[in-house]
Amino acid sequence: MKPNSSPLPPGFKAVAKKDSVAIRRKLGYSLTQACPARLVAKLYGVRVFPVFALNNLLLSGALGEFPDLDRRVAQLTSLVTDTERPFSAMAIGMCGDKIIVYNPNASAARQESDIMHEMGHHICQHPGNCLGAAMDFALRSHDERCEAEAEWLGWSLQIPEDGLMQLVRAGHSNEAIAEIYGASLQLVKFRRSVLAIDRRIAASINRAYNS
Ligand SMILES: [Zn+2]
Repeated sequence: MKPNSSPLPPGFKAVAKKDSVAIRRKLGYSLTQACPARLVAKLYGVRVFPVFALNNLLLSGALGEFPDLDRRVAQLTSLVTDTERPFSAMAIGMCGDKIIVYNPNASAARQESDIMHEMGHHICQHPGNCLGAAMDFALRSHDERCEAEAEWLGWSLQIPEDGLMQLVRAGHSNEAIAEIYGASLQLVKFRRSVLAIDRRIAASINRAYNS
């Protein structure tokens, strides 16, 4: 996890912050509670499945009719065990619907961030992968700006800036914060650093002290 080298469009972070607060409010979660990624998906009408469920959906006909569909589902499910390009999650379009498939072998914290990332793509209306299109999932290309946007929005949804600030101010450890948000410790540390949470808290203490 590293700060993305490609710059986000101006103002994107502020919009992501506002959107993530609004989504939490709609779902009834405060800034210092976990906001489950699967409920964010549900709010947008996006269904979420472990990638292997595609086999059952295929058999039941729920994926619709596309040429070469079984080969494409097999390709997607095989990506889970691909050690060179490990599969996290993917939003795919089918019959006009959007579904997210995720790797159920990943940790719960990782699943949350993977699904939030895909929801970031969905909310930003990025062009996605389509089950019915003749593209190779293993070779799917990533637009750098889209990736940076989905990453930032996904992180903002999982660990909102103001909530993180409140929890750090209240003296919670990184481990406790990770537990609260159902996030990885790595992501908590990253958000704390990239948002300069500690520096801002120190500055506000200094200001209060000097005034
Ligand atoms: Zn992405």
